[in-house]
Amino acid sequence: MKKFYISTAIDYVNSFPHAGHALEKIQADVVARYHRFLGEKVFFLTGTDENSLKNVQSAEREGIPVKKMVDQNAKKFYQLKNTLNLSFDDFIRTTEGRHIKGAQKLWKMCKKDIYKKNYKGLYCVGCEEFYKENELKNGLCPEHKKKLEIVEEENYFFKLSQYQNQLKEIIEKDKVKIIPESRKNEILNFIEQGLEDICISRSIQRAKGWGIPVLEDPSQIQWCWFDALSNYITALNYDKDGKKFQEFWQENKNKLHIVGKGINRFHSLYWSAMLLSAKLSLPNTIFVHGYLTSNGQKMSKSLGNVIDPFKLVEKYGTDAVRYFLLREIPPTEDGDFTYEKFEQRYNSDLASGIGNFVARVNTMANKLKIKKLKIDLKFKIKNLKLKNKIRETKNSYRKNLENFKFNEALKVIWELVGFCDKYIEQEKPWEGKENSEKVLSDLSFAIDNIADLLEPFLPQTSKNIKKRKVPLFPRLR
Ligand SMILES: [Zn+2]
Repeated sequence: MKKFYISTAIDYVNSFPHAGHALEKIQADVVARYHRFLGEKVFFLTGTDENSLKNVQSAEREGIPVKKMVDQNAKKFYQLKNTLNLSFDDFIRTTEGRHIKGAQKLWKMCKKDIYKKNYKGLYCVGCEEFYKENELKNGLCPEHKKKLEIVEEENYFFKLSQYQNQLKEIIEKDKVKIIPESRKNEILNFIEQGLEDICISRSIQRAKGWGIPVLEDPSQIQWCWFDALSNYITALNYDKDGKKFQEFWQENKNKLHIVGKGINRFHSLYWSAMLLSAKLSLPNTIFVHGYLTSNGQKMSKSLGNVIDPFKLVEKYGTDAVRYFLLREIPPTEDGDFTYEKFEQRYNSDLASGIGNFVARVNTMANKLKIKKLKIDLKFKIKNLKLKNKIRETKNSYRKNLENFKFNEALKVIWELVGFCDKYIEQEKPWEGKENSEKVLSDLSFAIDNIADLLEPFLPQTSKNIKKRKVPLFPRLR
């Protein structure tokens, strides 16, 4: 049986999830469901990154113990499972024992590339990363537009520079395939400038005692990225060299990470180098998505434009939220959320579009007292044009999904809906002519196909369509 491993990024738990987090989890869920539909054995992982400094700082600001804050917020992230109907198989928290032991084991396996030295650098707590002067924009962090902290310490370093040529080859030749091409080029350009060793620990003072201790040196805590990246294998029981680790990581050629554009470098370069150092299998594909903006701006508490996925689902329903994010947001670019756009999509594509189509066929079938339009195995679709259209739709859908073009895959399904609407207008089955039953039975066949194609995207709607449970999407008031 073909194996398929898929992970999302693990999120910082310094605050509640916003719609940008939801976008990434939903994209991954579509891919996981699609591969299950193909009959593959899928392992879908998500989780939370709990050992970062910014979690410590947030807890200090709120005046609560760090452990209490990460527990509270991690719970909120886990709740996305129900709210968004996510099908992940495991949820790892980096404060769990299995993770801590695994991260410490990986450190040990990378030992030959780890050394200690005195260092002075500029650190952004938001990014949890050191920056070089020439990487700053107007002296500020390019990602957070904030001043950086000067850190001078004796820390452990990882010999990233040793892997420069190997990493270049791996990425150029798509051994680790970065999608889209523009993100691959960005990484190759970065390698071109020369890779420097990276700092992978911090003093226990700077870490305020929070994080994963370096086993042989209690004065040091693992840098949270070294620890966080290892979640992709610690969740598979890397610590005990478990069966899942062998099955889904070491022996599996279908391993996919889905990450945001801001953390591509950590995955493509640092994570790959760590795996090379420990002589472990590399991921096969890294899919890099853009950011979700709100009214044209980055979501931020201070601007008051953070979109809460829980509120959104409460108002419009899970599948409407899934649909909007997958259909409206270009998968590899930034995309914008506004309530106007959301309601427009809802009304035109969901309440009218597919909702209207399924309800209409249902009503006509009821009127003509065609009780059972369920398709049996002997059924052959009568109309050739419709038959071809369904076949074309499936081909195009598959190609788009395999290239992570979620928006395009949905577009072709809606084109099929449009085709069926025209077919109804041409054949006028409501007139109850001789061929009406055949026409409605063909349409019913198309509807069942549409339900199948929709399953990875809108799982509940897919079920409702199969049961002809209408209305699918009640009109907004
Ligand atoms: Zn930053």
